[in-house]
Amino acid sequence: MHTKTLKALSELLKDKTISSRELTQHYIDRIDQYNDAINAVVHIDRERCLKAADSVDQRRSQDDQGLSVLAGIPLMNKDIFCTVSEPTTCASKALQGYQSPFDATIIKNCRDAGMVMFGKCNMDEFAMGGSNENSFYGPTKNPWDLSRVPGGSSGGSAAAIAARLTPAVTGTDTGGSIRQPSAFCGITGIKPSYGVISRYGVVAFASSLDQAGPMACSAEDCALLLSQMASYDPAHDMTSVRQQDYDYTTNLNDSLKGLRVGLPKEYFDHFADADIEKCMQAAIDEFKKLGVECVEISLPDVKHCISAYYTIAPCEASSNLARFDGNIYGYRSPNSRDIDSMYSASRSEAFGNEVKRRIVMGTYALSSGYSNDYYSKAQNIRNLIRHDFDEAWQKVDIILAPTTPSVAFKIDQFCNDPIKMYQQDVFTIPVNLAELPALSMPVGFAHQMPVGMQIIGPRWQEKRILNCAHQFQTITDWHTRIPEQFA
Ligand code: GLN
Repeated sequence: MHTKTLKALSELLKDKTISSRELTQHYIDRIDQYNDAINAVVHIDRERCLKAADSVDQRRSQDDQGLSVLAGIPLMNKDIFCTVSEPTTCASKALQGYQSPFDATIIKNCRDAGMVMFGKCNMDEFAMGGSNENSFYGPTKNPWDLSRVPGGSSGGSAAAIAARLTPAVTGTDTGGSIRQPSAFCGITGIKPSYGVISRYGVVAFASSLDQAGPMACSAEDCALLLSQMASYDPAHDMTSVRQQDYDYTTNLNDSLKGLRVGLPKEYFDHFADADIEKCMQAAIDEFKKLGVECVEISLPDVKHCISAYYTIAPCEASSNLARFDGNIYGYRSPNSRDIDSMYSASRSEAFGNEVKRRIVMGTYALSSGYSNDYYSKAQNIRNLIRHDFDEAWQKVDIILAPTTPSVAFKIDQFCNDPIKMYQQDVFTIPVNLAELPALSMPVGFAHQMPVGMQIIGPRWQEKRILNCAHQFQTITDWHTRIPEQFA
C-alpha cells in the first residue's frame, strides 16, 4: 500500500477495497518498524488515529456525500501546527507538554475533509535550521543514508515521506524548509505563494515569510493536498488571500509546448558540484522534450539574499518568541525568585543555542539607533529581489533552478559553523523574500543521494508549477524511488 499514490489510495478507499483503518494500521506498523532508525515521528497516539479512521469508515458505509477525495488518508503534521489531537511543541523544551485547545486552519481544513490526523513530525526547534539537528528530540536521519541530515526545518516530514511512514505530510517554509528537505530526501514539496494557506495556528517564526504547504511522493499528490489545505481565512489571518478556485488538480495535464522557461545564470554559474549540474542538465533536457523553450535570465540581486534573510527573519523571530516567557504557557523555570529572574531563567533554560542566536541577532538589529542600518536595509534588498523576479516574468513563464548547492550533508558537518549552514539556503531564500510559489522535486542522484530541482512561478501560479512538475513526472520515475532499507 505504501507504494501507491494518494489518488490510487483514494480510489481503493472509495470503492471499499480497503478501509481507512487498514490503511492507517499499515502505516502505524511501518512507523513501529522503522521510526527508531530515523527519528522522524515525535508524537503518535495510535488508538486515537485508528478511532479517527473508524469514524471515516463509518461515514463511508453510510454513503456520506460530504467525504472528500482524501477522506480516510493519514496526514502527518510538522510539530509546528497547532492540533487538538496531539501535543504541539515545535521540537522545543519551551513547549514541552503544550496541548493546543484549537486546530490550525490548515489542520481544520484537512480534518473536515476526512483526513486522519496521524501524529507529528520532528523539526528544527521553532523551524530555525536547515538540518534538523536543532531539535529537542535529537536529529532526524536521512533515510537514503543514515549518517546524513534530512535537511530542515521540515526534515522529519521529508524523512517520513521518503521512508513511506505516511502518505502525506505538512511542512512550513520560511527560507526553504519545505523545498530543501524535499530535495535532500528525494520527495516532492511545494511552498505556495505567501497568503494561499492560512497561518492561523502555525507557531510563528518570521511572520512575513512563513508559509505552510504539502510534501508527498509526487506533484499530483501535492496538488490534491493543496486543494484541501488552501483557504481564505480573513477572520484569523489577515494576510490570507482569496484565490479564484481551490482545485489545484485541474491543469496537471496541460501541454507544456511553447512554455517559456528561464534559467537564472546566478543559479547555474559557478556551480560547485559537477554531479548536481549533470542532473540539472538532464532534467532540462527532459523539459525540452516536453516542448518548452529555455532562455537564460539574470536575477542580479539574489546574491544578497542570505544577508537580507538572516536580518529580517531573526528580527521577526525575536519579536514572535517574546511570548515564551514562562508566564502563560510552556516551560517555566523552577529556579527563579521573582518575575525578572523567571523570565530570564525560563528562556535561558528552554531555548536551544540556534534559537538564542536568532533572538540575540534580531534584538540587536532592531534596537534603537540600529534598525535603519540593518532592518530597513534588508527590506530594501528584499524589494530589489522582488523587482528582479518581476522583470523576469516579463520574459518567462516559469523558472527552473537547483534547490540546493549540495546533496544532503553529513550529520555534524556544519553544526559549529552557523554561517556555512546559512549559506546552504542560498537557492531557496529568494523565493520567500519575493513571496513566490516554488516546488522542489527529485531529478536524479549525485553521490548516491537525491538531487532536487526547483520550479519557481509568478505569484498565484501554483497550478502552472504543479502542471510542469506533473508533466516531468509522467516521463520520468525519480519520484517513485524508495531507499532500499525502507522499500
Ligand atoms: N534554513 C532556514 C533558517 O534556518 C530556513 C528555515 C525555514 O524555512 N523554516 O532560517
